[in-house]
Amino acid sequence: MSRIIAASKNKHKIKEIEAITSQFGMEVIPRDEAGVPDVEIQEDGETFEENSYKKAYGIMKLCNEITIADDSGLEVDCLNGAPGVYSARFAGEDGNDQANNDKLKALIKDVPYEKRTGRFVSVITMVYPDGETLTARGEVEGHIVLEEKGPNGFGYDPLFVPLGYDITFGEFDPEEKNKISHRGNALQALKKQLQARAMK
Ligand code: IMP
Repeated sequence: MSRIIAASKNKHKIKEIEAITSQFGMEVIPRDEAGVPDVEIQEDGETFEENSYKKAYGIMKLCNEITIADDSGLEVDCLNGAPGVYSARFAGEDGNDQANNDKLKALIKDVPYEKRTGRFVSVITMVYPDGETLTARGEVEGHIVLEEKGPNGFGYDPLFVPLGYDITFGEFDPEEKNKISHRGNALQALKKQLQARAMK
C-alpha cells in the first residue's frame, strides 16, 4: 500500500476518499495523524480546481509526501451556481451544516421542485513531492428538497436527491453514495490517470 496524506480535516470526506482509494492500493493518512503542522490553507480561489490545488500543494510542501485534496460543493441552478466554492461557509460560520442547509432552504422555498436542480462537484488533486500533479473532476446531478431527510452523510446530503432516485444522499447507504457521488466519480477518474501513469 502506498501512503498518501489527506489535505482535508473533514472526517466524512476522508472516509469517502479512503473507501475508494483503498481499492487501488492507497492508504490515506489524515494530515493531523501524519503530524503535518496545523497550518490553515487559504481557500480563496474562484474555482474548485484552484482551491483543490492550493490545498494539495500547500500540505505537500509541509510534509514532502504525496498529498491528496478534495475541494467540493453544491451548485444550485436557480441561485446562479451558489453556494459553489463557498459551500462550506455559505451561512458564514465555517463548517456549520445546519445553518448552511437552513439558508439554502430559505432561498429556494418558493421555487418549484422541477426548477430546484443542481449538482455536487468534487475536484480531487494529487500532488507528488516533485510537483507532478493529477487533477480529476466528478459531478452528480440532482434536485434540492425543502426538508432534510436521512441520517447519513454530511453537509447538504439530506437535501440532495440524485437524478433517477427518490431518496436523498442522507438516506443512501454510504457505499451506494460512493458509487454515484461526485467524489466517487472524481476518484474513479483519478484511478484511470493513476493506471495510465503506472504504464509509462
Ligand atoms: P470544502 O471543504 O471547502 O471542499 O467544502 C465542501 C463543502 O461542500 C462541505 O462543507 C459541504 O457543505 C459541501 N459538500 C461537499 N461534498 C459534499 C457531500 O458529499 N455531501 C454534502 N455536502 C457536501
